[in-house]
Amino acid sequence: MTHYPRLLEPLDLGLITLPNRVIMGSMHLGLEEVADGFDRMAEFYAERARGGVGLIVTGGISPNDDGRPWDDGAAMTNSDDVTAHRVITQAVHAAGGRIAMQILHYGRYAKHARLVAPSPLRAPINTFVPRGLDSAEVEATIEDFVNAAELARQAGYDGVEIMGSEGYLINTFLASCTNERDDEWGGDAQSRARFALEIVRRTRARVGQDFLVLFRLSILDLVPGGSTLAETIDLAKQLELAGVDILNTGIGWHEARVPTIATSVPRAAFATATAKIKAAVGIPVVASNRINAPDVAEDLLARGAADMISMARPFLADPQFVAKARDGQAERINTCIGCNQACIDHTLSGKITSCLVNPRACNETMIDLAPTRKTKDIAVVGAGPAGMAFALAAAQKGHRVVLYDAASTVGGQFDLARRIPGKEEFNETLRYFRAELPRAGVDLRLGSWIDAQELIEGDFDEVVLATGIVPRALELDGADHPKVVTYLQVLREEVSLGTRVAIVGAGGIGFDVAEFVTQEGTSASLDVAKFYEHWGVDPTFEASGGAVPAHPHSSERQVYLLQRKASKVGAGLGVTTGWIHRAELAARGVKTMSGVAYVRVDDSGIHLVVDGEPVTLEVDNVIVCAGQESQRGLLADLNAAGVTAHLIGGADVASELDAKRAIHQGVTLAAAI
Ligand code: FAD
Ligand code: NAP
Ligand code: SF4
Repeated sequence: MTHYPRLLEPLDLGLITLPNRVIMGSMHLGLEEVADGFDRMAEFYAERARGGVGLIVTGGISPNDDGRPWDDGAAMTNSDDVTAHRVITQAVHAAGGRIAMQILHYGRYAKHARLVAPSPLRAPINTFVPRGLDSAEVEATIEDFVNAAELARQAGYDGVEIMGSEGYLINTFLASCTNERDDEWGGDAQSRARFALEIVRRTRARVGQDFLVLFRLSILDLVPGGSTLAETIDLAKQLELAGVDILNTGIGWHEARVPTIATSVPRAAFATATAKIKAAVGIPVVASNRINAPDVAEDLLARGAADMISMARPFLADPQFVAKARDGQAERINTCIGCNQACIDHTLSGKITSCLVNPRACNETMIDLAPTRKTKDIAVVGAGPAGMAFALAAAQKGHRVVLYDAASTVGGQFDLARRIPGKEEFNETLRYFRAELPRAGVDLRLGSWIDAQELIEGDFDEVVLATGIVPRALELDGADHPKVVTYLQVLREEVSLGTRVAIVGAGGIGFDVAEFVTQEGTSASLDVAKFYEHWGVDPTFEASGGAVPAHPHSSERQVYLLQRKASKVGAGLGVTTGWIHRAELAARGVKTMSGVAYVRVDDSGIHLVVDGEPVTLEVDNVIVCAGQESQRGLLADLNAAGVTAHLIGGADVASELDAKRAIHQGVTLAAAI
């Protein structure tokens, strides 16, 4: 039986036949600009090619100096660049794959002083103001795109993807809100489209017919003054005539105030818009955004919403995605959970891109999990993210691993995280470990609270303590009042809460608990219509940019979210997701307060001092989310008996712990053992 017959169906493009309908979408890796980056990228892309993906698109490469993302950002402008890129194309071709280079001019999103745009309008997410290109510079920029395509061909790429979405240069020519020109490159929709069309026409003329030209079209800008659906359909038709082979799609400018790829976005949320483009053109159209599972992709193809599926982050999470789907082993896919924590948050902070669930991503040449030559007996205590990640990687290397947890299920705190509305995807990580741990031969013993004696008597070669954390208790008058509950009790639904609640501690868990206790009805991440209404997406897609006024869902429960620091509440949340959490809580009427001093809890509520003034919040419950402390009581007893142990995850350091660090520590320890 063929699994996912539509997804795995070859696509004949004339001179090239792709083996399936899967495109690995473009991602900046951060390796483009580091010393050994091209060798690391070669292995990164080759591993994905070996995993069977139909076509890879590289991270964006600028066609000229002005279009670089930042001062030393990657560009394709000369023969040295061609030589550097050959390492990648040769590795991918040797692995049996195909790869196109994305040409990306950052336009007004560039983080350097030389940035340019159709008109001198600053992007709301940039501090630099762009210079408006004059007519001669527009012509020169088009030539730079064409030149970059020609150089990409010389470097051995199978094609180029011209980046026309997400609010970068080409996209800003298309939209009236960013193109105020009155020459031949501005004015009505046809004139604004000219820049994109000339780039495609002249590129096709230069590279010939036997070289793929993809165009990434913004089908929903999600900003006021963005293109209308009618304009976008018209452009799609003209791009086809201009010589585009494949129309990839993009959703939302980076400055849009609608989440487009975060975990709280429903799966395939925007595919209905893609279907409208597909209906208008004859070339293959690609659906993208929050598609992370083969059944979702297959369903879109079956529904006729697209001809191909682009997934980017899912290939950080699992290079074997296509191979596992092909082999009927979808339950073994390490699914991208949309957290952005180790990928886009890294990229935007100038770090190397990687993946929370797969720390080997972009570190393929550095984290070696080759089979061991000396099999050891290893005990792991704690089946949270750190313990599971270590146990799986160590067993896959060939060690004999026993994994204990006191709970009746795996996951540790991740099993709580998955209960937060908008974090439903976290279930997938637990499903992955449940499938893989036994398969790798890990002896999983749940419901076993382990003491040091058992470990000592086990006579293991190595003991790993992944025992996590305990929540920090509140030290305050009235901390033992019945109103005071822990986040564990709340998330496990062991207590019933009143209509007025104070949350002590506004870190990641405080925010999540605030969302949990204000959730009414179905989570918007599971309901596309609710998501559109909540964030202001026009379900007909006909409004300019597809954006309409939002009608956020509120909550009956009055919640106060408190912190002692004077800084903005939520300042420490993820770079790409913090604004979503802050907007979500604001919509639900959650009142945030910083700079508070806690005084006591009593029958009337929680007493504070704010700006030197006493304040009483008359609440029914106080939920403590005041951070965590390492749980590693076993260590002293083991050491006393002469047994050394490795500490990973929260058991090692509780401060600033998250699953990204826990899993990374687990995998890197397994590589070293
Ligand atoms: P834990 O997950 O705490 O696991 C420790 C395990 O050890 C537990 O299962 C425990 O039962 C077991 N154990 C302890 N002692 C013993 C013993 N003696 N015998 C047997 N078993 C024992 N992180 C993110 O990166 N992103 C997020 O979005 C995110 N959201 C979160 C939301 C919530 C609501 C919560 C609570 C956490 C969230 N986290 C998030 C944090 C993340 O879950 C933790 O950082 C991670 O689980 C820590 O992993 P760990 O393996 O170190 O410890
Ligand atoms: P946290 O982010 O460190 O926040 C702890 C909060 O408690 C802070 O607001 C802190 O602020 C307050 N606090 C600390 N000590 C206190 C005390 N003695 N009394 C009262 N308040 C106190 O920790 P967390 O919220 O427990 O989250 C744990 C980890 O899980 C985090 O490191 C986070 O990375 C991870 N996580 C991540 C996400 C995510 O979306 N990425 C979501 C959830 C959790 P003040 O000291 O200013 O009061
Ligand atoms: Fe997906 Fe999170 Fe990994 Fe990024 S870090 S690829 S969002 S699982």
